[in-house]
Amino acid sequence: MKIAVIGTGYVGLVTGACLAETGADVICVDVNEIKIERLKKGIIPIYEPGLDEIVERNYKGGRLQFSTSLRESVRECSVIFIAVGTPPGEDGSADLRHVLQVAREIGASITGYTIVVTKSTVPVGTSAKVKAAIQLELEQRDAAVEFEVASNPEFLKEGSAIDDFLRPDRIVIGTESDRAREILQKLYHPFVLNGHPLLFMDIPSAELTKYAANSMLATKISFMNDIANLCELLGADVDAVRKGIGSDPRIGTRFIYPGIGYGGSCFPKDVKALIGTARENNYELRILQSVDAVNDDQKHVMFAKIRRHFGGELAGKTIAVWGIAFKPNTDDIREAPALVLIESLLAAGANVQVYDPVAMTEARYVLSENVLFASSALDAVKGAHALALVTEWSEFRLPDWKKMHDLMLNHVVFDGRNIYNPAELQEIGYAYHCIGRMSSV
Ligand code: NAD
Repeated sequence: MKIAVIGTGYVGLVTGACLAETGADVICVDVNEIKIERLKKGIIPIYEPGLDEIVERNYKGGRLQFSTSLRESVRECSVIFIAVGTPPGEDGSADLRHVLQVAREIGASITGYTIVVTKSTVPVGTSAKVKAAIQLELEQRDAAVEFEVASNPEFLKEGSAIDDFLRPDRIVIGTESDRAREILQKLYHPFVLNGHPLLFMDIPSAELTKYAANSMLATKISFMNDIANLCELLGADVDAVRKGIGSDPRIGTRFIYPGIGYGGSCFPKDVKALIGTARENNYELRILQSVDAVNDDQKHVMFAKIRRHFGGELAGKTIAVWGIAFKPNTDDIREAPALVLIESLLAAGANVQVYDPVAMTEARYVLSENVLFASSALDAVKGAHALALVTEWSEFRLPDWKKMHDLMLNHVVFDGRNIYNPAELQEIGYAYHCIGRMSSV
């Protein structure tokens, strides 16, 4: 089966490489010429564990190719995946510019029966727009080419994207015909050998499933952050509460950890987009509006703790920040809580020394020149008045606290992910603040 994947970002590149891994003949297309040139040289444009090996193996095996020309790439493909970005527009709704541009180009290029599958996260009704855009192009060039559209939202998680794609919890596909269903069933068969379901449904339901999934996950996070904040006021310990509720299987232990707000390229934008979709249909998603508002506030919680600790006087203080990526194992810093914290610290006159194991390059593009980019975790704490742990990378889990004590000017740790042992730190001589645990203030 010959397949084209349009958009070679976190989703498109992983999709292309993993489909090639099953023996399919895949071409990955992107408008970004530098990205494609680098991929042809074996340079992976993003940090995603395991991606380099799988890309290299399939590229060398001739099953994975790269191109900047959509027109030439899609001609003989039976399935085309659209995996371009759908960033938030000014009003928070998904910006479909890239998706519809790709649809028009597909319409201008295909020559035989093709299934056009939207993998990007798109609002309900987008597949119909994709279909109309392709149809219009075909009519304009007077071509009677058969095609169908399908919706196949992606559920991979950055940081474990390869494993998620190869062994998914489920695959959701919205289709309109038995023919498309059979072809996509065949294409995805190797990925559901683990017994997890390939769920076929109508297209609007598939499109909505992705937003509902991300919104539910974001809800869990904001709920726990709200409970953590309340714990601090009541003198309760959110760790104990978390374990107490998580042992009920109806609630479950996963995704109920408090922190300093969710970030990344998906949850914030998808929650906002779903709120927008509801509004367009005269419905207020009140729970999600609160989820979004709680998250915005939570991103400021650590700054408030730091400011309070220093009696409101941060000018001239040096704060070390560990972690910029929105979560460990990715270089993605889109909507990362660290950016909000760093901005607030700088605005308050503090000096900021940052370190992240893989996101430093990305961070240099967006952070102020006033930030000091440290060469290691230890380098970041040299001369610091405080350490703020933002992203729980493995290498931050067991620091040498005693050595750090000598390097720091003042000894206080703000743990935004509740990964450190308060008693241990206090014994070594650190003041310790976290989120919703007994020692939080
Ligand atoms: P990304 O920004 O990493 O990559 C998008 C790519 O599309 C870029 O390389 C860009 O150059 C390319 N592109 C834009 N316009 C194009 C065009 N006209 N032709 C060809 N290429 C074009 O985005 P991503 O993180 O991979 O996300 C893609 C979609 O998948 C989004 O809708 C996102 O919401 C969704 N999604 C993302 C994740 C994730 O974890 N990143 C997970 C599930 C779903």
